[in-house]
Amino acid sequence: MIAMGAKRAEILDGRSIAEQIKKEVAAEVSRLRQHQGVQPCLAAVLVGDDTASAVYVRNKVRACAETGLRSEQHTLPAAISTKELLDLVADLNQRDDVDGILVQLPLPKQIDEASIIEAIDPAKDVDGFHPVNVGLLAMGRPRFVPCTPAGIIELLEQNHIEISGSNACVVGRSQIVGRPVASLLLQRHATVTICHSRTRDLAGVARQADILVAAVGRPAFIRGDYIKPGATVIDVGVNKLSDAGQARELFGDEADKRIEAIQNRGYTLVGDVHPMEADAVAGRRTPVPGGVGLLTVSMLMRNTLNAAKRRKRP
Ligand code: NAP
Repeated sequence: MIAMGAKRAEILDGRSIAEQIKKEVAAEVSRLRQHQGVQPCLAAVLVGDDTASAVYVRNKVRACAETGLRSEQHTLPAAISTKELLDLVADLNQRDDVDGILVQLPLPKQIDEASIIEAIDPAKDVDGFHPVNVGLLAMGRPRFVPCTPAGIIELLEQNHIEISGSNACVVGRSQIVGRPVASLLLQRHATVTICHSRTRDLAGVARQADILVAAVGRPAFIRGDYIKPGATVIDVGVNKLSDAGQARELFGDEADKRIEAIQNRGYTLVGDVHPMEADAVAGRRTPVPGGVGLLTVSMLMRNTLNAAKRRKRP
């Protein structure tokens, strides 16, 4: 039983770190332009009319403008074939003025997603999903690291949270978050456990962790009894919640604000961690929104800058 309100976890703010990274990228882009006449360019490919994907791409294109990167958006109809998309990727691969290629996932069902990812030139794979980049990361020689896991590490390091020697538990084993963040934690000398839907006694395993990363995709899945007292809890989940009663149960002091959001736009965002219970047990936690999600786009800007630097000065 968790005594609510007994203590409040420190909130790890993603916004200030995300802004700092964008500032650093902008300064380096400006230097590259002045001294080498190079302006890095990101090509973003959006297929179909999924609203969430359109918002993600718009945010990425906007961040390019903020940091001085050039961007171009290719918007294609949902009915496009794998062959047509492969042709676009081949064109972007051979263009010297394009440094980074991002194909927004998920793709419509008729498209062979793996063949699209594998077709992207690994030197322009700023999402870090190509098997060459996945392999380099697994070998401990990272080149392009997927953006959300890279953001998680940045958040831990900027907040001086000790990774080396810690017990880290990652709940979720996706290619996009769980596996790469586990690799990055291992490289930084954490003792890493990866949990998934077949894990026995997940709460008991998670409760051993000094650093607990939740990437499950289930609202408020990680309850207070999954958390070691004082642990750092990184909440990767982004889930929509439209039930005002549930919002009241999850958000404590913040509930009124969240219920207002539900009334105004139909939903509020909740992570994979129960915020009120985590507050009572954890030492620190990331909020949703305002935590890991904000760092993802900043890390994409950094990856695109690095892609341009590598290509122009191999
Ligand atoms: P995913 O591909 O659906 O993977 C979910 C993982 O959670 C799987 O490994 C699955 O296990 C595990 N899981 C599901 N139910 C479970 C259960 N009951 N017990 C234990 N493990 C369970 O999800 P993802 O792409 O990694 O995303 C996870 C969350 O992060 C989502 O909410 C997503 O929206 C969010 N996300 C946020 C960002 C950001 O920028 N903030 C970026 C990417 C993703 P199995 O492998 O056994 O099925």
